[in-house]
Amino acid sequence: MDIKNYINGEWVEHSNLQNIVVTNPANGEQLATIPLSTADDVGKAVAAAKKAQKSWALVPAPKRADYLYAIGQKMKEKKEYLATVLTKEMGKVLEEARGEVQEGIDMAYYMAGEGRRLFGETTPSELANKFAMSVRTPVGVVALLTPWNFPVAIATWKSFPAMVAGNTFIWKPSNETPMMAFEMGKIFEEVNLPAGVANIVYGTGPTVGTALIEHPDVKVISFTGSTTTGSKVAELGGKHLKKISLEMGGKNAVIVMDDADLQLATEGILWSAFGTAGQRCTACSRVIVHKDVREELENRLLEAMKDLTIGDGLDESVKIGPVISKAALEKINHYVQIGKQEGAKILSGGRILSEAPYDKGFFYEPTLFTNVLPNMIIAQEEIFGPVVSLIEVASLDEAIEVNNGVKFGLSSSIFSQNVNTIFRAQRDLDTGIVYVNAGTTGAEIHLPFGGTKGTGNGHRDSGIAALDVYTEWKSIYVDFSGKLQRAQIDTE
Ligand code: NAD
Repeated sequence: MDIKNYINGEWVEHSNLQNIVVTNPANGEQLATIPLSTADDVGKAVAAAKKAQKSWALVPAPKRADYLYAIGQKMKEKKEYLATVLTKEMGKVLEEARGEVQEGIDMAYYMAGEGRRLFGETTPSELANKFAMSVRTPVGVVALLTPWNFPVAIATWKSFPAMVAGNTFIWKPSNETPMMAFEMGKIFEEVNLPAGVANIVYGTGPTVGTALIEHPDVKVISFTGSTTTGSKVAELGGKHLKKISLEMGGKNAVIVMDDADLQLATEGILWSAFGTAGQRCTACSRVIVHKDVREELENRLLEAMKDLTIGDGLDESVKIGPVISKAALEKINHYVQIGKQEGAKILSGGRILSEAPYDKGFFYEPTLFTNVLPNMIIAQEEIFGPVVSLIEVASLDEAIEVNNGVKFGLSSSIFSQNVNTIFRAQRDLDTGIVYVNAGTTGAEIHLPFGGTKGTGNGHRDSGIAALDVYTEWKSIYVDFSGKLQRAQIDTE
């Protein structure tokens, strides 16, 4: 399949005619080629988005929302097909791919509902015969830079609030997973979204991403990806005074207290640590366990890990698919070697799977480390693979200190049956998301999604909070007194 850029409602040839090949991480099969676009292509997309934005902003928000309802409906009709494409390009197992598509459908309907809300505020004026209100207005043209691990959900978290609020956008998907963007482009066409509202430009971050950030007509950059790239985006965007929303890496932990339901904790850890082969931004990478239950938890985890079937995600019996690329496989293995050198002990896994039937893809054994200390590299840096480290603690205070002692702040979780423990933890864990008696993954789209410290810069995806990224507040004062009234001065 030869995928083209989607600009101004059309699939167009890119300027330099060079392409990137996209392959299935489970078996190396070539799936598609995508354009290696240039700043010229970005210029065309921005011009189309800028032109379309003027009229799009004048379409009543409930009518803009109708397009989102239609997009949600199309995604629902195509759910099984979309999930299959997603599994082929990204590797996650079908069940999870269906869940991701469902997340996009939920987001479409939820944000469509905002078309009839987009609430502003009215408030009394301090002066007589004067009316005061504030309303949300669109910012204009926005750029969406998205990662490969959630090829469609993250784009819907960004593009749907942007659209309903009256913005137009240019989406640069990850080169590893461009096919879901192509499928979404087809859906935009099928629902007759006005030309230029949604644009898709493929290519590299340094070329296409940089051109978008530097373009004077792009007002907002909404980025999800690694902290290293996010910091570059912030630096360049800051220079150009752009509004920048960053959602970045994590080093998420599950805390297991001595009174926890250990069966539930085992299931929660397994799902959060090894689901999506550990490649969720909220994946559990550390288990902070009370010393009195460490041994039993280790035994339960080892027993449960025996059921983790590894393979091609299209096979419904498989629980863990491949990781995204050879580079990712090598990075994960590198961290595992570091862990061994640091003195951590491998209880299970720790190996690249290179024999048949794994030899054509990128598979890593689910890996469980114990005897890990909080300041070891494997307990501090994002590994982004099926590797989890057990850290033993003696108290809740110590558990919270260990949880908070990393540079990231995305998701955390605590298993306990004691209400006092739970309420202290949810207050003191310094992450943007906290789960109680559940693993670190499983966000719902109507709550804000994002993190603190090295994970974010104060913005949130999804939930109502997402609208703050794609709108400006405009405060409007209507004086119907017929005379000059001066705020703060004519107060008697
Ligand atoms: P990445 O940073 O390599 O790439 C993200 C996007 O930025 C891609 O589209 C990429 O092409 C683009 N990009 C790369 N260099 C760029 C540049 N110089 N300028 C502009 N854009 C550039 O991330 P990835 O490997 O695709 O994704 C994995 C990372 O994403 C992990 O760190 C994960 O934790 C994080 N993530 C975070 C969240 C969250 O909401 N916090 C969600 C999912 C993934």
